[in-house]
Amino acid sequence: MAATATQRALLIDGEWVETGDWIEVRSPYSGDVVARVAKGGEKETRRALDAAERALANPLPAHKRAEILVKVAGLIGKRHEEVARTISDEAAKPIKTARVEASRAMSTYTFAAVEARKLAGEMIPMDSAQAGEGKLGFTVRKPIGIVGAISPFNFPCNLVAHKLAPALAAGCPVVLKPASQTPLSALLLAELEQEAGLPAGWLNVIVGPASQIGDVLVEDERVKLITFTGSGEVGWKLQERAPRKRVKLELGNSTPVIVAADADVETAATKLAANAFAFAGQSCISVQRIYVERASYDAFVQSFVPKVEALNVGDPADDETDVGPVIDADARTRIAAWIEEARSSGAQVLTGGEDGTLIKPTVIAQVADDQKVSCEEVFGPVVIVNPVDSLDEAIERANSTRFGLQAGIFTSSLDSALRAADRLEFGGVIVNEAPTFRSDQMPYGGIKASGNTKEGPAWAVREMTEERLVVIQR
Ligand code: NAP
Repeated sequence: MAATATQRALLIDGEWVETGDWIEVRSPYSGDVVARVAKGGEKETRRALDAAERALANPLPAHKRAEILVKVAGLIGKRHEEVARTISDEAAKPIKTARVEASRAMSTYTFAAVEARKLAGEMIPMDSAQAGEGKLGFTVRKPIGIVGAISPFNFPCNLVAHKLAPALAAGCPVVLKPASQTPLSALLLAELEQEAGLPAGWLNVIVGPASQIGDVLVEDERVKLITFTGSGEVGWKLQERAPRKRVKLELGNSTPVIVAADADVETAATKLAANAFAFAGQSCISVQRIYVERASYDAFVQSFVPKVEALNVGDPADDETDVGPVIDADARTRIAAWIEEARSSGAQVLTGGEDGTLIKPTVIAQVADDQKVSCEEVFGPVVIVNPVDSLDEAIERANSTRFGLQAGIFTSSLDSALRAADRLEFGGVIVNEAPTFRSDQMPYGGIKASGNTKEGPAWAVREMTEERLVVIQR
């Protein structure tokens, strides 16, 4: 069947495939059906793996892989508004934020094309050991094999791009399982990859019950690497169940940021108000915990809260909207309960709270470290603001979490910035910018419970290839 706007098939072996069963994708904002998507399962996943195996047996040269990647970037640009609308419709992401995501996906494909062209091993100085005299040694980078990719709902286009584009750059065929709530952006990217000339089998997209598809990806020995972005609960189990595969995990965070006494309070308040609530806080690096040195605390709160209250909350399709709904009613109920728990434990809700089907941007002050809004990942439009007595206390409290993805500090002191960069136990430390910052060529990924890898095309390609040593006796 031809792909249409309201009914989408699965992509297996270069064909759009219907299964007779359908999943309805509903707008998290209006509840309307956005599209019906064919529902696959075990059988379709195995067929996809057979196709990927055939693709792997017919390697594509690097220049062709790079050309396809560049073309996909161009096609996203050509259909930019459609890509953005697709993201916005299925995820209820405000359209202006969805446009940024579409542009970032172009950038991800572009950077991956560069990696495809420069994929190389290295020379080994063989005669630096006596045994190596008279020998020539070098490594080549080989694709690891079939990649199983599993993606979350919150960046349904660009986080899929961060798996598909490096895999193609590395020369690995992919079987992708996108989030059931948001499969449409992934299927649109697949359509664009096809249009860009990707041969059959190199990308297969299966939408359906997570455990069925996940089980096949875990159990089938042909899958050499699973790249997973999502919750720790699912991710770490996948790793336990597949000890002989590379299982690369990009998981959650409870993102802290420090506002030091010497920081420009106005800049910090402006950047944090804009970044703590983007996509209703449903980003793995959404600002969640703000620690302000006591000397600046009142000034920060007085500047921050009105900026948060000025955000436009409402219909994601509206160009003016900054903050839409969270992904579903369960998430809304959970977040509202966590806000209430904090309030009843003595914290002050300075603004926000539940409002019909939405959670308004919420700021809670003086929150104890054991409250869920502090120590768990909220994944909603909620930030906490706490005063601290010193930079040391701020760093200690920022670190008092099992997560370790990204953290930030606002300060005008180089010494404080470097001290924080040294002591914050996170995969990334962002100085004088909201720690929600990510640019797609960066190495991005967490430590501790937040994961075990770095994405960003150069890093992902490294993970998706293995080095083979060649030694030649001259
Ligand atoms: P999730 O519930 O873990 O789902 C992620 C993906 O895993 C979905 O495709 C889901 O499928 C699938 N899945 C669920 N159970 C599975 C199983 N047993 N086997 C195989 N796959 C399974 O996460 P989410 O709610 O979509 O995303 C939110 C989480 O992702 C947050 O914790 C956030 O911090 C994290 N995240 C991290 C990053 C990062 O780069 N570090 C980026 C974005 C998000 P279904 O949709 O069909 O259930």
